[in-house]
Amino acid sequence: MIPNKSNGTALADHPEVDVAAWRKDFPILAREVNGKPLVYLDNAASAQKPLAVIERIERYYSQEHANIHRGVHFLSQEATGAYEAARETVARYFNAAEARECIFTRGATEAINLVASTWGEANLHTGDEILLTVMEHHANIVPWQLLESRLGVKLVVAPVSDAGELLIDEWEKLIGPRTKLVALCHASNSLGTINPAKELIAKAHAHGIPVLLDGAQSSAHLKIDVRDLDCDWFVCSGHKLFGPTGIGVLYGKAELLGAMPPYQGGGDMIERVSFSGTTFRGLPELFEAGTPNIAGAIGLAAALDYVESIGHPAIAAQEADLLAYATAQLEQIEGLTIYGRAARKVALISFNIAGIHPNDIGTMLDSDGIAVRTGHHCTMPLWERFGLTGTARASFAFYNTRQEIDALVASLNKLRKLFL
Ligand code: PLP
Repeated sequence: MIPNKSNGTALADHPEVDVAAWRKDFPILAREVNGKPLVYLDNAASAQKPLAVIERIERYYSQEHANIHRGVHFLSQEATGAYEAARETVARYFNAAEARECIFTRGATEAINLVASTWGEANLHTGDEILLTVMEHHANIVPWQLLESRLGVKLVVAPVSDAGELLIDEWEKLIGPRTKLVALCHASNSLGTINPAKELIAKAHAHGIPVLLDGAQSSAHLKIDVRDLDCDWFVCSGHKLFGPTGIGVLYGKAELLGAMPPYQGGGDMIERVSFSGTTFRGLPELFEAGTPNIAGAIGLAAALDYVESIGHPAIAAQEADLLAYATAQLEQIEGLTIYGRAARKVALISFNIAGIHPNDIGTMLDSDGIAVRTGHHCTMPLWERFGLTGTARASFAFYNTRQEIDALVASLNKLRKLFL
């Protein structure tokens, strides 16, 4: 199967793609699991970490650690410098206008909860509507449901086609005078669908509605430019972007973030505390109460630098090849159905094999050293739409190979013989 050349991502156009060299950057990829070479195809759940990240975190903890912001001593100032430099790296990476528009959070989930709790509580009222899509991760559903029960707002859910593409006309029809927020995923973690975010954001803005873009999946695959997208908030998780767990980013336009009330209260976010009245700092400290994940932020910056050193064009070319090849190979397997046939997809494939439970697929693949995810992938409403409870999902990163896809296909064929 030849990858789609029309989008300029054919491998032949990218001599810089050097998967063998990239794989050496990820020590875990040399592991064996159950006596077989590890085939890691669970990247949508969490990506592996390059040495550049591992060594940066080790250096931080072995040489540089101290608490940040308030110390006059050398180490504290050095750690503060590294933490704030990490913010600059994040801002540059996502093309934010200013570093203070990038808030460090625990991950995408916390970032969405932050917006729901602060902006949502301050700006939404009974009867207001939040427009979501049926393909949202639970992290972009439940925080709004909590507002539904607290404030009496209403969630409106846009449908998808059988191919798993957002029905744009239907989505547009659901925008009305009561719509006060649009929140949607840039890429679906279950179907792979890449939503036309820029177009949807422009349409929402034409009605004066702000948009929160969940970039937890897209940020691992696509070059993200928050100013070009013109999203009002963008959220992502470091661990899906080859960085550490426990760190993520909430980007928000300065004007919007600056008008949001604080999230958590405590140290670092205050200017002055008094029992007669406490005052708060501005962005970004306002939303970073308490000692933050200093090593996580520094490790995330190392991950972003690493991704930039690989380059988005090379990543896109390699992933387009993997997606096309895997789709063609999996289609050969009798009884296998692929869910998610959008024209624009990130490199992941959800599938089921008739007569075999997804969990059995996952367990059998694991015995061959192949890691895939099985179940609902935190998108229960989406699977309800397709009349399913879940799927098996193989999700790729730029360090995966066609040989690994061959191993997946061979293992699935073996499994079919065993079960059917
Ligand atoms: N949104 C999407 C689309 C995701 O795929 C995920 C995680 O799988 C999340 C949000 C939540 O990310 P995290 O658990 O890192 O906060």
